[in-house]
Amino acid sequence: MTKRDYYDILGISKTASDAEIKKAYRQLALQFHPDRNPDDKSAEESFKVASEAYEVLRDPNKRKVYDTYGHAGLNGGGFQGFSDVNDIFSNFGDIFEDFFGLGSRRRGERSRKGKDLGYQMHITFEEACFGVSKEIEVEKNVLCPDCNGKQSAKGSSPSTCPKCHGRGQVGHSQGFFTISTTCVYCAGEGKVITDPCKTCHAKGVIKKTKKLNITIPPGVDTGAQLRVSGEGEPSLSSGVNGDLYIELHLKKHTLFTREEDNVISQVTISFPQAALGSELAVETLYGKEKLKIKKGTQSGTILKLHSKGFPSLRHYGKGDHLVEILVKTPEKLSKEEEKLLQKLAELSSDTLSKKSLFG
Ligand SMILES: [Zn+2]
Ligand SMILES: [Zn+2]
Repeated sequence: MTKRDYYDILGISKTASDAEIKKAYRQLALQFHPDRNPDDKSAEESFKVASEAYEVLRDPNKRKVYDTYGHAGLNGGGFQGFSDVNDIFSNFGDIFEDFFGLGSRRRGERSRKGKDLGYQMHITFEEACFGVSKEIEVEKNVLCPDCNGKQSAKGSSPSTCPKCHGRGQVGHSQGFFTISTTCVYCAGEGKVITDPCKTCHAKGVIKKTKKLNITIPPGVDTGAQLRVSGEGEPSLSSGVNGDLYIELHLKKHTLFTREEDNVISQVTISFPQAALGSELAVETLYGKEKLKIKKGTQSGTILKLHSKGFPSLRHYGKGDHLVEILVKTPEKLSKEEEKLLQKLAELSSDTLSKKSLFG
């Protein structure tokens, strides 16, 4: 079979300028574009032939070889034409964008972002308060090192889907209408794997455990999410990687609870401490802090240690540490203590009875 002359295909003279070549190809590409001619084999063939002619004539070096030696010269030079329309789209992507002013990719080929992943991380109160860097291990899919996600064995490539001829869509006639649906055979990809990669069994990905260093900012609380960009699963359609979302959970603390940015703890004091007043050393996230108990402090009183809570993520500053004071009633008394308490009771019942009688 003799190959048609490239200038004839594009309908231009041998002295055509670059602009004329481009213009001629643009017209043919618009006319025979597979999206405009679904299920039309001859249009697809015309599209392929025109694209091949353009691919040679737009390149000054290839054009010179062709002008001098014809098709034979090009075959020796490694140009074999295009294997299928998808091959054309991947080579001419930017040109189509330029021609049509819209996406050059075919429906089935549109790049998709890789899957997002989630990870549950448990941290202590101290880590949440001061921030921390942690190394985590995430088991996830990564691109297969042997086929680099292409799913085909080394040296082979997917072939055009025989059912939809690479369009990813098939037409069904319904009376006067043709209804297009996604091709089931290739799942809308337009291509099928005929020689699968042995390493990943044509999945394009393999499972791998990856170590990541995660920096947790100070002030986070249960339910906070950190996004680690690009650490999700890879895309098999040349899209960007998915993201990794780390959800944080605060572990229970033996002494503290948390309410928003405040830390809450309880301290038990004796009746004399409550009655006479005293000074305590209270455990906080920042170490031991002095706390003054005023004379006559009641059980249930809440005292505040200013700015000893969690740093606020919403505004400047920190929450407080709230100390709930619990006054303990003594369970066992020495003889001496009992005597003193009885004396105290006599004195206070005196005041009480006076109050109840006359107050
Ligand atoms: Zn593979
Ligand atoms: Zn198909």
